[in-house]
Amino acid sequence: MTFKPSTTDKALAPETAKSHEGAATLFIDGAWSAAAAGRTRTIECPADGSFVAEVAEADASDTERAIAAADAAFRRTGEDSWASWTTAQRGQLVLDIAAAIRQRKDEFAWAESMDTGKRLPESAADMDDIIACFEYFGKLAGNDAGRLVDANDPTVVARIVREPVGVCGLITPWNYPLLQVAWKVAPCLAGGNTFVLKPAELTPHTAILLMHVIDDLGVPAGVANLVTGAGSDAGAPLSSDPRIDMVSFTGGLATGRIIAGEAAKSVKKVALELGGKNPNIIFADADYEAALDNALNAAFLHSGQVCSAGARLVVEESIAEKFVDDLVERAGHIKLGGPLDEKAETGALISKQHLEKVAAYVDRAREQGARVRVGGEIATGPTADGSGSLADGYFYPPTVIDQVTREMDCVHDEAFGPTVTIETFRTEEEAIEIGNDTDYGLAGAVWTSDSGVAERVSRALRHGTVWINDFGPYLPQAEWGGFGQSGIGRELGPAGLEEYTEAKLVYENTAPAVTGWFEDRR
Ligand code: NAD
Repeated sequence: MTFKPSTTDKALAPETAKSHEGAATLFIDGAWSAAAAGRTRTIECPADGSFVAEVAEADASDTERAIAAADAAFRRTGEDSWASWTTAQRGQLVLDIAAAIRQRKDEFAWAESMDTGKRLPESAADMDDIIACFEYFGKLAGNDAGRLVDANDPTVVARIVREPVGVCGLITPWNYPLLQVAWKVAPCLAGGNTFVLKPAELTPHTAILLMHVIDDLGVPAGVANLVTGAGSDAGAPLSSDPRIDMVSFTGGLATGRIIAGEAAKSVKKVALELGGKNPNIIFADADYEAALDNALNAAFLHSGQVCSAGARLVVEESIAEKFVDDLVERAGHIKLGGPLDEKAETGALISKQHLEKVAAYVDRAREQGARVRVGGEIATGPTADGSGSLADGYFYPPTVIDQVTREMDCVHDEAFGPTVTIETFRTEEEAIEIGNDTDYGLAGAVWTSDSGVAERVSRALRHGTVWINDFGPYLPQAEWGGFGQSGIGRELGPAGLEEYTEAKLVYENTAPAVTGWFEDRR
């Protein structure tokens, strides 16, 4: 069934709403339940504060129950157990999830937009990426039959086989809620693991819908579990509980440090996808209009709430004045509005708290001597289509900050909002030096018509993704992740599946013999 929302109705799709009855949004051991302590959380649309739904607010005891279920499901053997599923069956399951999301795409997109305040067409595009991710891992499952190893001994058969890691704790952020979930759940299932998923507390709805899909597809109880709730409470056991074999986290650097520290105590496998402060380097010989247009996308798409946002513009000095003037001019005309506002070009920030954080980041830049060329104040005017007020939601306008120095916080800190700082360079070496002057290392771009410059700069940048004459695309078949403090490990691509497996050496001696190493004194 697809959901066709009217442009005035902000309610959840009937199917989604039904799945929320009694705030029974925890999926544990194959059954839906409310939080044991009965606590709930009200989800509101950040674009206008309208009520979306009431969901369960789990605490650590709910998560521990989910971990026990995932642990038992992983260890269970025999007919119908998860362990008895072949890789082909697991791959088919992941493909079936893709097909089910495709069938209910409108409903998923709607739920995503209500939680995030993101424009509906953007959420619909996200769903296409999510479907592609499930399809990629569904097809990849079972492709790796292991590897024969030459033991330099004709009597030995040695091979490397890939085994599931075990019970996985999956923790995801609010900016691309289901996309981040898909990057983890798809390879996790394809690899034969069980999991407990904790989506961001502000944006749980598409994860809830996904678990309904998985439930409908007949996955054994306990393989897939969901807890909705706050990180410090519901999330914490996923890095501290010794029954968890791997924790995969996407979110902020500070949280990543806490999670890695907790996980170290029981020596879990840890995968971290953290933030970024991503340089977008424009040489004077670049295609001017393409570079300018993409500089806007890089900084202001999804109001800058993108881990790989090009929030640090680095322009060759000879074109900087005109380029920045044009950027300021275009940024000042970007239209803001809610999910259903057809005239809006970008949407709300996720919460009041986040809005205040972005505003404080810009205020600090001012205090430290930077100049705000456009934007720089919380938006309170009419929405793009004039039907409402931006003051009812959490809107911040596209903001361009120049006259910065490298000592300023705005150049190093991730704002995770619609802001961009401007720096200039004179030489290729200087451009590279600026681009690498960050503790992060997630993504960057170089714009030039000189393929030699493009090649040298792209190789010299210490970032997990480098675009040449583009900004933003990623591919499910290509690894994604960070250098430096942007994280540990990779999602997507073959390595994204490998993260969810352990390599095992199976060494067979086909001619067992007495070694004589220890003298036989019987
Ligand atoms: P966050 O770190 O506040 O929260 C992320 C998740 O962690 C949420 O589900 C939260 O509830 C949970 N959490 C918080 N404390 C926890 C704890 N002690 N134990 C377990 N779980 C805990 O991040 P956010 O504000 O939701 O997301 C924004 C951040 O995510 C940005 O820094 C952004 O760059 C990063 N991000 C990175 C990528 C990437 O691919 N590298 C993608 C998206 C977002």
